[in-house]
Amino acid sequence: MARRLLEKEKRQEHETKGDKVEQETKKTDEQKAQEHKAKAETRAKENAKRYENTNPDTLKWDENSKKYSVELKCECGETRRVFTSDLFQVKQCVECTNKARAERRKQKRAEKKALKLEEGGKV
Ligand SMILES: [Zn+2]
Repeated sequence: MARRLLEKEKRQEHETKGDKVEQETKKTDEQKAQEHKAKAETRAKENAKRYENTNPDTLKWDENSKKYSVELKCECGETRRVFTSDLFQVKQCVECTNKARAERRKQKRAEKKALKLEEGGKV
């Protein structure tokens, strides 16, 4: 009888230990997430400072993407929310970006046409 009790106690002890381990793992994951967030925040602030067309007061953490975003002010006056990690390649609002892209394509077409005419002239 006494032995059986002892075994039961042992099992309980084991279960308790198992719970503890699980809790510690969870805590570590949470800590990791917090560390990641803290690092991201530092980087986001640096980025927002580096690019003067952004407003550092609008820095916001996005839980889904685990990234910070910030409001960017376009030369046309429009604002656009972008991830701070994308600031190096995003300078304008969506509309201006599309316009600039269309302009580049138009220019490329004109260049191609000019090149063709030039080639035709040589023959
Ligand atoms: Zn714009």
